[in-house]
Amino acid sequence: MTKPMKEGLSLLSSKRFPGRFGSGGYRHEAIVGVGGNLGDVVKRFDRVVDYLRRGGLVRVAETSVILKNPPFGYADQPDFFNATMRIETDLSPLKLLRYLLWVEKRFGRRRSFKNAPRTLDLDIIFYDRLRLRTWRLQLPHPHFHTRESVMIPLMFMKEENR
Ligand code: ADP
Ligand code: MG
Repeated sequence: MTKPMKEGLSLLSSKRFPGRFGSGGYRHEAIVGVGGNLGDVVKRFDRVVDYLRRGGLVRVAETSVILKNPPFGYADQPDFFNATMRIETDLSPLKLLRYLLWVEKRFGRRRSFKNAPRTLDLDIIFYDRLRLRTWRLQLPHPHFHTRESVMIPLMFMKEENR
């Protein structure tokens, strides 16, 4: 299903987005941004959710709708797909980051240049209410509140909770 919005933005749903998968049993909650623009991104998003759920290190509690949006930064590349997930975990922020970077790799991520096309980008937007500014990890994720790619999925996820 696709719903057009303004300026080339549209909302999509898939097997796992949006979704609710139950919660409880972990000490921390995080919002993770999911992005990508190479290959069959939507199918990959679904697989990532299944992969995370099987892994047992995080519990995927909820997923948002998927936002399709034009690329920014380096413009000559395919449209981006973005979504958010609410997860629960006992991992520390740095361990969670390491795990997510590993999952990106597992799903074919290669690092080339800033804002380059990518198969999968997993960013920690929030980790509880923690504020952190280190070279390795910044929380909340910098500039998230000015990015439609994060704010729109997040807003729809919050709406669902009313
Ligand atoms: P971007 O997500 O900005 O396109 P990358 O995915 O290549 O860039 O991430 C580059 C680095 O950003 C990561 O190796 C990580 O150390 C750092 N980083 C800092 N804060 C965060 C965060 N909140 N979530 C994910 N990565 C972060
Ligand atoms: Mg990233």
